[in-house]
Amino acid sequence: MKHILILTTGGTISSITSKEGLIPQNADTLLKETLHDSSTELTVKSIFVLDSSNIQPEEWKIIAKQIFDALPLYDGIILTHGTDTMAYTASMISFMVQHPNIPIVFTGSQLPIEHPLTDAIDNLRCAFAMAKSDIPGVFIAFNRKIMFGCRCVKARTSSFDAFESINFKTLGRISATGLSIKREMIHTTSLKPKLVLDINTEVFLLKLTPTTSPKVIPLLIENGIQGLVIEAYGAGGISFIRRDFIKEIQAAIQKGIPVVVCSQCLYERANFNIYEVGTKVLASGAIEALDMTTEATVTKLMYALGQTSDLKKIKEIFLTPISYEINPENYNN
Ligand code: ASP
Repeated sequence: MKHILILTTGGTISSITSKEGLIPQNADTLLKETLHDSSTELTVKSIFVLDSSNIQPEEWKIIAKQIFDALPLYDGIILTHGTDTMAYTASMISFMVQHPNIPIVFTGSQLPIEHPLTDAIDNLRCAFAMAKSDIPGVFIAFNRKIMFGCRCVKARTSSFDAFESINFKTLGRISATGLSIKREMIHTTSLKPKLVLDINTEVFLLKLTPTTSPKVIPLLIENGIQGLVIEAYGAGGISFIRRDFIKEIQAAIQKGIPVVVCSQCLYERANFNIYEVGTKVLASGAIEALDMTTEATVTKLMYALGQTSDLKKIKEIFLTPISYEINPENYNN
């Protein structure tokens, strides 16, 4: 008999309607009833009851610890979570709980489980099937798709198809033939599960607009940031006339602040080697995020900075794949 753990954290899936809008509550009994299956033992545990907009690094550490401690005791773990920041938490957990030996499956819903038209039941069942699959890793199960946790982005506010797997194939789907998984996408490892609680949360994400002043960078440094991610334009471009970001990026790096550059485009890799507005950025010493999502980029920089403050080592850690978040084929072109 398989033993599956469901950890609950709140979100729409467990919310009720109130005068102030949807408020999460404890819906553990309902969740358990939805997944009732005589061939599986289910344990449900509430970690906290929060809208995911309130989930922050303090909660990530609790989630990571709960998951890590449960790894030897269960065949699979489902984590219910609000959808709004699920991609951030799933990315961060991919770096905080490395080489898991069982499936860790995030899910949630766009409508509360109590709503007659809810998508929660479908999503929970999809997560349940994946949690029983013996395939190790951190995943998101949503709208009958299984995706790698650190490849996901919440792309739609209200459609049931809320999440997309960015620059990476969807790992699995549920259809009339059941759950089909592209097992060839899974890398096996003999490495033991590892818990990483040291993360540096002083990482700032700066999305450029044509009016953004580069003066914001020294201000951010004065205010204590220790890592900077810049969402640049297109394949990779940052202004150097009038609003000269290159000078400020160089100054930040000289002060020991790693600067990572990614693209505002959701799909396809960033490549700062194509245009002059990109090559100047690389020459300044910034690190390219290649094909990573912004969510994975920000959380991976927090992870890397938690391990070392040596800029060379940060770059090395940042560009080494940990949990499918970066595609090694994109390294050398
Ligand atoms: N605001 C909710 C949350 O992220 C949205 C949801 O769960 O779909 O907790």
